[in-house]
Amino acid sequence: MIDAKMYALGDEPSAIRELFAYGMQRKAEIGAHNVFDYSIGNPSIPAPALVRDTILELMEEDPVTLHAYTPAAGDPSVRQTIADAISRRFGVIATPGQLYLTPGAAAALAISLKAVTNPGDEVIVISPFFPEYSTWIAMCGCVRVEVPAQVPSFQLDVPAIEAAITPKTSAIIINSPNNPVGAVYTRQNLEELAAMLLRKEEELGHPIYLVSDEPYREITYGKEVPYVPTLYPRTIVCNSYSKSLSLPGERIGYIYVADAMDDAREVITAVAGAGRALGYICAPTLLQRVIARCVDEPSDVAAYAENRALLTDGLAKLGYEYVEPDGAFYLWVKALEDDAQAFSDRAKDYELLLVPSDSFGVGGWVRLSYCIAHDTIERSLPAFAALKESYQEV
Ligand code: PLP
Repeated sequence: MIDAKMYALGDEPSAIRELFAYGMQRKAEIGAHNVFDYSIGNPSIPAPALVRDTILELMEEDPVTLHAYTPAAGDPSVRQTIADAISRRFGVIATPGQLYLTPGAAAALAISLKAVTNPGDEVIVISPFFPEYSTWIAMCGCVRVEVPAQVPSFQLDVPAIEAAITPKTSAIIINSPNNPVGAVYTRQNLEELAAMLLRKEEELGHPIYLVSDEPYREITYGKEVPYVPTLYPRTIVCNSYSKSLSLPGERIGYIYVADAMDDAREVITAVAGAGRALGYICAPTLLQRVIARCVDEPSDVAAYAENRALLTDGLAKLGYEYVEPDGAFYLWVKALEDDAQAFSDRAKDYELLLVPSDSFGVGGWVRLSYCIAHDTIERSLPAFAALKESYQEV
């Protein structure tokens, strides 16, 4: 018999993917040049040359071993390289045994949540949030508890998170730099969160896991992105190279269960179990090897910074309201009517593809992915002007 919950998840449209699919169809109809597609977070800059060079070099190796299975958690030497990079960069002692390689951050999040929750537990998310969190929380049979971010800073509202914690709370997901608002949580904000969580753990007598979703860690515009495990030991880092190395389709990332956690061994064992149960064993071997070579490659954020400047200046001049992003490559823009879906639908008349905010847990906004060609942004500004005018005519 079909699992009704899984059917519902399969049947439920993803606003982002639906708009992306609409965009593909529209581009086929009127030409890609004429569609201003702000729907999906596909990096617009190429992967570093070292990725290509490494793949070409690897092609010369013995294909039998090159394409073979690795241990479920990933090749030990690759995990050692990543652990060394974490230790070097963030001043922690990271060991390979605390790493589990995954096909992207999505798998890392699904595994981590499965590892540290039981059905009926509560998982706190900060709204607006990445819509897929709802899917993974539902998959675990848990309850999603939404806590709005502070407005207008979109920092964590620590007193509100504290008020939302109950004896059933097992995990909190945070995401900085943030999709969709571009906020980067400050050190002080994270320190306040950590102090509160330590107090609540003591009070409740059970662990509260902080799941730190970090695929945008490298994409910032000058702001510090503190390393969460240095502030709160019970942190599970979920990271990927999808955005930092522009490899979203290659599906490679990792879970790092902080060594400093007092139950680190138990948690990484549960992570291994969840990875096994969900079928996420042995992340793509070729990509594991590529990452080992490219672990210190810097992300090229200059193009995103230029896009950000062009888009925010352009929209500000037109009188749009938006949240100034400090990281990632998304702009959170106030819809010109309360119904974000209706606004997004009207934007389509101007060939603007803007994701409505409802599936991110709030109404009245749209998300623009500005990881697109600079020239597309430039050419889209008259369409934004016409969209705005259409509201003034009414
Ligand atoms: N978390 C956030 C906030 C994201 O925006 C994304 C992808 O866009 C993911 C997780 C999933 O990343 P990956 O493609 O590495 O699975």
